[in-house]
Amino acid sequence: MRDWVDFGAVKQAVSLEAVLHYYQVSGLRKGPHQLESRCPIHRGQRDDSFRASLGKNVFHCFACQASGDVLDFVAAMEQCSIRQAALCLQQWFSIGAPDPCPARRALRSARRGERVREKEACNRPLPFALTGVDPSHRYLVERGIDRATAVEFGVGFYAGPGLLSGRIVIPIRNAHGQTVAYAGRALDGRGPKYKLPAGFRKAWELFNLDRAAATGGKSVIVVEGYFDCLRVHRAGLPWVVALMGSCLSAEQENALLERFDRVILLLDGDAAGRAASRAMAARLSGRCLVEAVHLLDGAQPDQLSLTVIQQLLGRSNPL
Ligand SMILES: [Zn+2]
Repeated sequence: MRDWVDFGAVKQAVSLEAVLHYYQVSGLRKGPHQLESRCPIHRGQRDDSFRASLGKNVFHCFACQASGDVLDFVAAMEQCSIRQAALCLQQWFSIGAPDPCPARRALRSARRGERVREKEACNRPLPFALTGVDPSHRYLVERGIDRATAVEFGVGFYAGPGLLSGRIVIPIRNAHGQTVAYAGRALDGRGPKYKLPAGFRKAWELFNLDRAAATGGKSVIVVEGYFDCLRVHRAGLPWVVALMGSCLSAEQENALLERFDRVILLLDGDAAGRAASRAMAARLSGRCLVEAVHLLDGAQPDQLSLTVIQQLLGRSNPL
């Protein structure tokens, strides 16, 4: 990442239209002079509250009153500074960074599949990190996440400005340990329960994969949610990943099979969790060793005591 950025050059090089497509804003309608859509910033329901002028390359939302140019838009979407927004755009749209060797560029792009390019466009490493995150927040204490675990994962309460304001933020890292998104957990029951950046594909990542793989073991525990993962990690079993949901995508399946020989499924003790566990075991069996740990009705890994987690998974300890 370069530490310099030319705001004017970025604004001139990137159209709001391109940025809206980058974020895969849904319901985008294009008129002769402007674009209309739902507002991706406040995620409103009205499909015409957000307007972008094609000629002036500026936007305005009549509902949340957000307005400005491409830099303001990205700053609002990523909850970051204008400078960080400019760095994001510079990186996403390869501004001012021409590849010095055209032959190498052609060879490289020929080698990559469409899928890989799409992946790189959607889940790119963030060129910034949220600061001022409180790892000792009461909510985390109530959910059994101690300060050391929160600090290790970069999890905490975020009081800064933007979409994640007033939420518990959870950095999601890719297989290389680079942060590609923040999930924001609501504390006050207001929806959505988890906010993720528009355009982010959670099916292409496994939460905590980089740390689980770094343990060097051949076994991995698979749970549904972020807090299940934090809790199992805290119980002394760091070879754990979370699906960020209850289905295993093809990308997640490949990521597991590339790194591990044995998969221990620890999904929620409800109908959805059991069905998902059965489906995953069926898909993985024959390709690796699969074990499923069944929890009692209504139980979730993040609500279990550390001792119970250790007992349930103790026999599965790969070390
Ligand atoms: Zn808005």
